[in-house]
Amino acid sequence: MTFNISKTTFYEVNIIFTKSEKMYPRDHVDNWYKGQGLWADTPEQNWQTWQWQMSNRFVKLEHFQNYLQLTPEEEEGCRYANHKLLLAITPYYFNLIDRNDPECPIRKQVIPRKQETFVAPEELLDPVGEEETMPVKGLVHRYPDRVLFLVTPHCASYCRYCTRSRLVSNAQDYDFHPDYESALKYISEHTEIRDVLLSGGDPLILPNRKIADLLARLRAIPHIEFIRIGSRVPVFMPQRITPELCEIFKEHGPIFMSIHTNHPKECTVELKEACKRLLSACVVLGNQSVLLKGVNDNIDTLLSLNHRLLQMGVRPYYLYQCDLITGSAHLRTDVAKGIELIQKLRGFTTGYAIPQYVIDAPGGGGKIPINPEYVKEVTETEIVMRNFQGEEYRYPLKPSKPLSLIQQECNLS
Ligand code: SF4
Repeated sequence: MTFNISKTTFYEVNIIFTKSEKMYPRDHVDNWYKGQGLWADTPEQNWQTWQWQMSNRFVKLEHFQNYLQLTPEEEEGCRYANHKLLLAITPYYFNLIDRNDPECPIRKQVIPRKQETFVAPEELLDPVGEEETMPVKGLVHRYPDRVLFLVTPHCASYCRYCTRSRLVSNAQDYDFHPDYESALKYISEHTEIRDVLLSGGDPLILPNRKIADLLARLRAIPHIEFIRIGSRVPVFMPQRITPELCEIFKEHGPIFMSIHTNHPKECTVELKEACKRLLSACVVLGNQSVLLKGVNDNIDTLLSLNHRLLQMGVRPYYLYQCDLITGSAHLRTDVAKGIELIQKLRGFTTGYAIPQYVIDAPGGGGKIPINPEYVKEVTETEIVMRNFQGEEYRYPLKPSKPLSLIQQECNLS
């Protein structure tokens, strides 16, 4: 029997090195953004506190007045944000915006645009079907041994492509208020759960005592082996990664944390320092990115991003195809583009710098890995493969009966 593997396009990739040199040739941390930028006059002790960053966020149209000329599309988007997903940008993150470029990849991620008001037929309020698998409000139990625990609706800044925009920021009618007691009761009663992912919203927006309490109560459940946190706070507000917070992680560790960067400009000196503090507290760091049109859908950007992540001690983990979120068509890319990009990474940089490209299946199917087609054919006896340059190689399916060296010598003589 022979399997013919369905063909996906295998792209020409031999121009990659010439192209990638355009972005950050010889990248070094000296090239990375640092400092207070537009807030150079703010006392450093204020700038460095996360409470100051939170209370000085851009949250309405008027806040941009002295800082940035919004485009008409952005103005309209900002007016609409209160009905979909609130607007909020920390001063730290705002500094990363190129104010002269309306197409700036940082700007596209956090400043709403008019296009958010358009809804494509395939888009959904709950694009990955979480509501179907929520035994308790805010607790998603989709996979047998793990749960997703949504611990807050709030974030430091709001991403315009947020999968949970139906409940994050409470701009829509959902009115999300996590019920910790019911969620913890469910987790403790279900002994098949060994892995808890804290998410939201952003768990690191909670005060230290709340984080410490949640971690302690989860650690006290005998069947919980593995605690993860998904957080974009280090990227939006590295000031939040305080020594006190790190002590909490150290006490209740090991904690596995996925940060969320999408573009190399987000890898700043401050973020690198915050990652260093987390690593010193035995927090294992990974990164998840979302593939976004005009933000990171080209090979130079992805290479630079993943190389910077490695320099910070963060392993690129997932590259998500953008979920079918309402009002996201202007940010979504062609899936073929994602496959092409992964193919352009594989073999051209270390495997540590290559995230797994996934689609979180609409309707609740879970994350499905999407790969370029390296397996050309499986015959009765061998697998026929392509390497990163498209060259063909073969490998036997089963081991043959081995002969001792003596037997081989005898046969030869
Ligand atoms: S930080 Fe996460 S939860 Fe918050 S808006 Fe961004 S993607 Fe959504």
